[in-house]
Amino acid sequence: MKANLQDQKRLLELVDLDLSLVRNAGDRAKLLSATATSEASEKALAVSDRLIDARNRVGDLELELKRSENDLELVENRIAKDNQRLSSTSSAKDAQGIEHELTTLAKRKSELEDAELGIMEVLETVRAELSEAEAAKSAAEQELAELRAALETNTSELDSARAELLSKRSALVGLIEPELAAAYQRKAERNVAVGKLVGHECGACRLSITATNLEEILTLPADEIAECPNCQAYLVRS
Ligand SMILES: [Zn+2]
Repeated sequence: MKANLQDQKRLLELVDLDLSLVRNAGDRAKLLSATATSEASEKALAVSDRLIDARNRVGDLELELKRSENDLELVENRIAKDNQRLSSTSSAKDAQGIEHELTTLAKRKSELEDAELGIMEVLETVRAELSEAEAAKSAAEQELAELRAALETNTSELDSARAELLSKRSALVGLIEPELAAAYQRKAERNVAVGKLVGHECGACRLSITATNLEEILTLPADEIAECPNCQAYLVRS
């Protein structure tokens, strides 16, 4: 294949651009499949579950506390009423009955107070868990938002790099003899299309070229582009 020296140089640039495009596509795929964001969203979900659970438990305990407070209030009212009855009764029998009830009520009151204290203790623990879960949730959400923003920035960086590579490429292809450019394209669809001959090594496949083949290549006219006998890439002699 005829190729002037300038076009041969351009082919080397073109193959570099194409390799950069392949790397760019690979980086983009890697970025999108990055597990960091999916791990972060799983974490955020798990934290949400914890938060809902803590919220429910706090709600249940507050209800239980309210009930216990109501019960206590009833007992206290009853005690007040009994004391009033006790001070106004003149019947010794009634007074004995009321005193008996007051003893029972005092016992009940102390049980209810203990229960209330118990509930308040548990409530304190669960409220602490709740605020911890709230903090963990906002941290997880922030992490996720940061990761998503980074992903967006990185993909748009890769996209603009790709657009730049493509525009350089089409400008470069426009300068190359059409027949040569078409031949390059056919090779590029199968393999790395161009390599530089360095010593007796092909820059495209990195394999050594035999002495006989090398001699043939080196005796070709300068405007004739050689091909690697191993990978069929165009070989640019430096
Ligand atoms: Zn080769």
